Amino acid sequence: MRITQLTKAIALSIAFSSGVALTATASVTDKDIKDDAATTDDVVSYGLGLQGQRYSPLAKVNKDTVEDLRPVWAFSFGGEKQRGQESQPLIKDGVMYVTASYSRVYAIDARTGEELWQYEARLPDGIMPCCDVINRGVALYDDLVIFGTLDAKLVALNKDTGKTVWKKKVENYKAGYAITSAPIVVDGKVITGISGGEFGIVGKVYAYDAKTGKEVWIRPTVEGHMGYIWKDGKKTENGISGGEAGQTWPAELWKSGGAATWLGGTYDASTNSLFFGTGNPAPWNSHMRPGDNLFSSSRVAIDPDTGKIKWHFQTTPHDGWDYDGVNELVSFDYEEDGKMVKAAATADRNGFFYVLNRENGEFIRGFPFVDEVSWASGLDKNGRPIYVEENRPGNPAAAEDGKKGEVVVARPSFLGGKNWMPMAYSKDTGYFYVPSNEWEMDIWNEPTSYKKGAAYLGAGFTIKSVADDHIGILRAIDPKTGKEVWRHNNFAPLWGGVLTTAGGLVWTGNPEGYLMAFDDKTGEVLYKFNTGSGIVGSPVTWEQDGEQFISVLSGWGGAVPLWGGEVAKRVKDFNQGGTVWTFKLPKRYESNNIAKN
Ligand code: CA
Ligand code: CA
Repeated sequence: MRITQLTKAIALSIAFSSGVALTATASVTDKDIKDDAATTDDVVSYGLGLQGQRYSPLAKVNKDTVEDLRPVWAFSFGGEKQRGQESQPLIKDGVMYVTASYSRVYAIDARTGEELWQYEARLPDGIMPCCDVINRGVALYDDLVIFGTLDAKLVALNKDTGKTVWKKKVENYKAGYAITSAPIVVDGKVITGISGGEFGIVGKVYAYDAKTGKEVWIRPTVEGHMGYIWKDGKKTENGISGGEAGQTWPAELWKSGGAATWLGGTYDASTNSLFFGTGNPAPWNSHMRPGDNLFSSSRVAIDPDTGKIKWHFQTTPHDGWDYDGVNELVSFDYEEDGKMVKAAATADRNGFFYVLNRENGEFIRGFPFVDEVSWASGLDKNGRPIYVEENRPGNPAAAEDGKKGEVVVARPSFLGGKNWMPMAYSKDTGYFYVPSNEWEMDIWNEPTSYKKGAAYLGAGFTIKSVADDHIGILRAIDPKTGKEVWRHNNFAPLWGGVLTTAGGLVWTGNPEGYLMAFDDKTGEVLYKFNTGSGIVGSPVTWEQDGEQFISVLSGWGGAVPLWGGEVAKRVKDFNQGGTVWTFKLPKRYESNNIAKN
């Protein structure tokens, strides 16, 4: 069903043929976005707040009541286009905005599941998404629904009609660029990262005027590439931070250096910093590029007003395992020795969990969060890995035939101790809830050279499981001690995001199809419901008409079936799908304030 143009900002009711009434929605403001973590009646940012904590103060669904939770509607994305559904829905004034595979967007009545409009990007044949045709969600701003496409464009749609308001080509998809991450909006600027690290692209962070799509600044994340900013109608160079070309890269390798910002970023208002992660240096064969290869496999703090890099922290200098450093950096405050610490934490693909000072990027502490790390024996006092040199995949130039370097077994596998799927932080327990995986890989290097638009790896690999009964582990981790408080094993690799609430619950889904709620202190499973296809999306919760709703996407796919080697065989019989599931408690709970344990 399509609705006709709504009169802007007028509270107008439209009666559908089904008799369902919908009130016109208000514009989303900068304040709405900045307050998002605290306001329970909407979800207007990726991460339920730009800091990315994925914590909701809602507690009606809690340890006592969750057993009565039930589905209230399910919405199908329809058609033959299924594959991985990795999106996080946003909700404003009773309307849900959600993306689906193949760069599609839907507006849905959040009370009933009825479709309001849908938008399908017309994708060219030559798109090159490395890791499935997924999308992780929209940004909302003013009257716009903004999202990135697999052919590397940003598209802004009118929130009431789904009609295109502006469209911006961010990069050339023919060179391997794509967008799969959810953009964020900070002070009227829409900010996005870019995918393509497996094709030797140059990673960047981009800021555009959210209302018009006009470029504001662009910040490359490979040392040597100049950023720029528009000032008084003129494009001005905006110098690189941290050195000139060639300081941490040999010869010309920085020109196709990767460091893709493919997972997007978070933002912390108290330090006015964007935090973006960067992927592997290209190519994977590390013997071709001696040096630290800045700013690959790093977290960078960027000034949102100018695009300048304030600080960087490199998790895997001279990466040789595809340990992309893109995983979300989540801001949180904690008390230590009577002082409040402005910290930020990240669980890296390389198997280490890092706590940083988010004001200056200084390393506070780090520890492995997986059972075994083979490539490093630990971290030094600055958080730099202590390499186990013999566990770096060998140099093909040293091989007799010059074609295949020594094979090593590396753990974690390149799909990571944790991949893109966002963790959650509970203010109540002080724990991070980390969706993680235990797996290893055979990896070796091969000669390669850069060719625009072609895979640029110089490596081969096979991912293998290390246990028969599980690969996935949902972990509760104390960031102050490094202690794992509880764990929950899962047969298939976990690939979905996590949410936690003041109701004392931790939510996530698994590829087997279950939406699950855990006790935040003990890890006990308090609720599970099978959605009919694997869950690789991120759950959200919000309040409407006095009731607490929970939504999650179901639709198996993502990188594991495509890149998973031996592991892909384990999950090959999981069925695809494309459905938004929404849950709430029965009506009788509506007016009661039910205490939690
Ligand atoms: Ca909110
Ligand atoms: Ca990568």
